[in-house]
Amino acid sequence: AGRVAGKVALVTGGASGIGQGCAELLAAEGARVVVTDVQVERGKAVVDGINARGGEAVFMTQDVTREEGWEQVIADTRKVYGRLDILVNNAGIAIGGPIHSFSFADWKKQQAVNEDGVFLGTKHGLGLMRESGGGSIINISSVAGMKGSAGLAAYCATKGAVRLFSKAVAMECAAAKDGIRVNSVHPGIIDTPIWDGIGSTLDGPSNAGGRTLDLNDVAAVATPLGFKGEPADIAAGVLYLASDESRYVTGIELIIDGGMVTR
Ligand code: NAD
Repeated sequence: AGRVAGKVALVTGGASGIGQGCAELLAAEGARVVVTDVQVERGKAVVDGINARGGEAVFMTQDVTREEGWEQVIADTRKVYGRLDILVNNAGIAIGGPIHSFSFADWKKQQAVNEDGVFLGTKHGLGLMRESGGGSIINISSVAGMKGSAGLAAYCATKGAVRLFSKAVAMECAAAKDGIRVNSVHPGIIDTPIWDGIGSTLDGPSNAGGRTLDLNDVAAVATPLGFKGEPADIAAGVLYLASDESRYVTGIELIIDGGMVTR
C-alpha cells in the first residue's frame, strides 16, 4: 500500500536535508528507494532508519559529477530492484560570494554538482526508466532558479539552468511518448545543513557583521508566511510529482517557498 507502492525511486544527495526527507517519505509511501551520496556514513544511517521502520532502501556511494559513477549506479539499481520509476536529482551545493571576487574554480565546482549532476542523472536514468515503461524525473531547483539573489549569482545560474533543462527534457519525453514526466521543484528557505556554508558569504542585511545566519530571522524577513520550511514540506511536493496523481503534469515548476517568489 502507499501512494508510490511498487515503484523504485533513486534519490541523489539522500544522506541529508531535503534528499533524506524525500527518501524517507517515498519509502513510507511504498517505494523501494536507492539513496546515493558522497557522505557514506550519513547515507547508510538514512537507509538503516528506513529499513528499521519497515521500508525498503539501499545506499550507494556516488559523486553525481562523475559519468562512470552514474553508469554504475544505474546498472546496480537494475541489478538490485530491476527497474526505475522515480528519479530525484537533488544533490546540490551552494557557494556564496560577490561575483567580482568569485573564483573560476568555485564557479566550475558550483556548476559541476548542481548542473552536470542533473544532466548526467537524467541522461543515464532515462534508459532504465524507459525499460520500466515510464516514470517521473524530479529536479530540485530553487527560488534561486526563479529570481536573483545577491551573493548567490553562481548558484542562481545553475538553478535557472536546471529549471529550463527540466522543461526541455519534459518536451523531449512527451514527444517520444515514453511515459516519462519531468518537473522541477523550487524550495524557498528550508532548514538543512546547506545553510551552514552560505551564512558567512552572503551579502545583505541578514548577515550584517558576518555572523552566522539564523534561519528563523532570515525567513521572518524574506518569507511572506514568516517562517522557515522543513525538508518534509519539499518531500510532500516531490511525492505528488512522483506518484500517478500527477500523471497529467509535466514541465512545471512547483514552488514551495512560503510565498517568497510571489512577493
Ligand atoms: P544538504 O547539504 O543538507 O544536502 C545536500 C546533499 O547533497 C548532502 O548530503 C551532500 O553530501 C550531497 N552532495 C553534495 N555534493 C554531492 C556530489 N557531488 N555527489 C553526490 N552528493 C552530493 O542540502 P539541502 O538543502 O538538503 O539541498 C538539497 C537540494 O535542495 C540542493 O539541490 C539545494 O540546492 C536545494 N535547495 C535547498 C534549499 C534550502 O533552503 N535548503 C533551498 C532551495 C534549494
